[in-house]
Amino acid sequence: MKHGERYGYPTVLLKDIMSSASADTEFKITYDIACVFSKYVKKRNLLDSERCSWAVPVFHGYGHIASCQVSFSPRRIPGFGLLDGEAIERLWSYLRRFAKITKEMTPGHRLNLLSQGLDHFSKKKEDRLDKWLVERVIASEGQLDLCSADNASLQQKYKVPLTDLTLNEMISEEQEQFKKTPTSASGRGWRSQYIKDLLKWYSLRYSLDVL
Ligand SMILES: [Zn+2]
Repeated sequence: MKHGERYGYPTVLLKDIMSSASADTEFKITYDIACVFSKYVKKRNLLDSERCSWAVPVFHGYGHIASCQVSFSPRRIPGFGLLDGEAIERLWSYLRRFAKITKEMTPGHRLNLLSQGLDHFSKKKEDRLDKWLVERVIASEGQLDLCSADNASLQQKYKVPLTDLTLNEMISEEQEQFKKTPTSASGRGWRSQYIKDLLKWYSLRYSLDVL
C-alpha cells in the first residue's frame, strides 16, 4: 500500500465527521502520526485546517523526535486539557478478551460476536460521556489551580515575573528554535542551544538555591 492511500482512510473519515458538524466546530485531533499527517492534509488542502488542532497521543509521543514531542504534545496545545489521546488503545485492550473465544468460531459467528462486543463498548462509552466530560473538566481545573499555585510560589521565591506576555514570547522563541534544522547556524542547531540554556538554567537555579 502506498503512503497516499494509507493517508486516504483517515482523510475520508475526518472529512465525513467534519461535514456533519456545524461550521464553527473546532476539532482537536489526536493521531499517532499527527505531525506528518497534519502537514500532508494542509499541503494538499484536503481538510479545513483552520478548524483543526493536532496532537500526538502522550504514549506514542515517546517514539517521535524531540521537536514533535514539544510541538505536538496534547499537554502543550491549547484546548486538549488532560486528554491523553490513547482512547483507541483502550478499545484494543477491551477486544483482547475476544481473541481466545472467537479463535475456533466460523467467520460469521466471529463477526457477529465482535459486532455485539463493539456495540456494547460504544453504548457504555456513550452512557458515560456526560459524566466523563464533567470529571475531565474538574480534573483539568484542579490541575490548573495546582500549577498556578506552584507558579506563584516559584515567582515569589525567585522574584522572576512571569506574565502572559513573557510566556508567549518564550513559546514563540521555542517554536523558532525547532524550525531551525540541526545543521543550521552553528552547525549543531537547537539541540546545542537547548543544552546550553539548560546548563545555564541549572547553574542559575543552583546559585539561587545556595543564596
Ligand atoms: Zn512526529
